[in-house]
Amino acid sequence: MARLVMKFGGTSVADIDRIRNVARHVKREVEAGYEVAVVVSAMSGKTNELVGWTRALAPMHDAREYDAVVASGEQVTSGLLAIALQEIGINARSWQGWQIPIKTDGAHGAARIVDIDGSKLVERLAQGQVAVIAGFQGIGPDNRIATLGRGGSDTSAVAIAAAIGAERCDIYTDVDGVYTTDPRIVPKAKRLDRVSYEEMLEMASLGAKVLQVRSVELAMVHGVRTFVRSSFDDPADPRLGDPRNPPGTLICDEDEIVEKQVVTGIAYSKDEAQISLREVADKPGVAAAVFVPLAEANINVDMIVQNVSEDGTTTDMTFTVPTTDFDRALKVLEGARAAIGYVNIQGSGDLVKVSVIGIGMRSHAGVAASAFKALASKGINIRAITTSEIKISILIDSAYAELAVRTLHSLYGLDAA
Ligand code: ADP
Ligand code: ASP
Ligand code: MG
Repeated sequence: MARLVMKFGGTSVADIDRIRNVARHVKREVEAGYEVAVVVSAMSGKTNELVGWTRALAPMHDAREYDAVVASGEQVTSGLLAIALQEIGINARSWQGWQIPIKTDGAHGAARIVDIDGSKLVERLAQGQVAVIAGFQGIGPDNRIATLGRGGSDTSAVAIAAAIGAERCDIYTDVDGVYTTDPRIVPKAKRLDRVSYEEMLEMASLGAKVLQVRSVELAMVHGVRTFVRSSFDDPADPRLGDPRNPPGTLICDEDEIVEKQVVTGIAYSKDEAQISLREVADKPGVAAAVFVPLAEANINVDMIVQNVSEDGTTTDMTFTVPTTDFDRALKVLEGARAAIGYVNIQGSGDLVKVSVIGIGMRSHAGVAASAFKALASKGINIRAITTSEIKISILIDSAYAELAVRTLHSLYGLDAA
């Protein structure tokens, strides 16, 4: 019998009524003949509350204990959904990460899945039992609960789909698919029928939090057919049961996309802080003196701009780091001041990175130029730019974020009619 993974995010399990609604979605697929593994997130807002408690006690808390606390939200919803399913006559059992087991590496708080033994799960599914799995968690090499980073239930779902050879992985959320940009920012955003793995990877890593980046990587590597769809649709609507093409967005191989657009979507991320080192000595080894200590402190540097010096002696160097690492980065750089040799350091946290994504950019010139022109016409100043084959990212002041996203969305013809 074909297997199906259904994942429900926080808003989809936000309260008891929503959990009942999820149970009805699951029932529909069971009655359609699938063996179903469900992955659930914590109730919306719960994980934030749990994280807040750990921070309130100690800003630099032990990551193992953080995991012990924050993984509990998913334990609650997995049990509740199993009860809701039993109540409507569906044989169901909850599973915590360690019971499967989902094995992770030891990076507590941001662990990666290294192995899933799907055999026990497959056995139970074959007996006609729905498995309700707590997302976001696994078990580390130290035999302790490890969580997969924020938004990690998506990754749990895709990894389980790969491990049990599921026909599909349906990601149910509070929007009915992947849009050309965040529909909460641009009401004119259009739903996409299909998005390639590569584009989705860029969109997710550049700020579209509809899927966790790692889940898209896994889907791509294992060829998991992943659908993003809404849990807010009526579970009894007969159109929802289409096994080949359920309503939503399919994340798939590029060859499965017939009509390729030049630009597929616009993403934005508020998670950028800028650091500028003024009057850095312009000589070999300086970039290493700046970036090696940051790398050693596990700080990811994203955009880098280095000016050519006028006089051949000093230059300015500007780059971005995640806002959460901003203070730490400043400390590291102050510590390395003697080795780097800069005159002063400036930082700003009030920035946003807006990105234009599309596989069609590979074969179309002028996409970046038109973006710069459109932003200039709105008086938006660009602080830094990075590009790759299929994306352009532009760093601007956060006050202009929405204007920039809307401007680019219209510019590339993405607005709904
Ligand atoms: P869940 O709790 O179900 O995991 P998330 O809040 O993590 O849901 O992700 C869904 C949200 O992602 C949507 O409510 C939407 O605001 C946001 N989002 C950002 N970019 C996009 C996009 N391009 N398409 C769809 N949703 C997006
Ligand atoms: N509950 C976790 C979070 O809020 C995991 C998830 O929802 O995917 O990050
Ligand atoms: Mg999510």
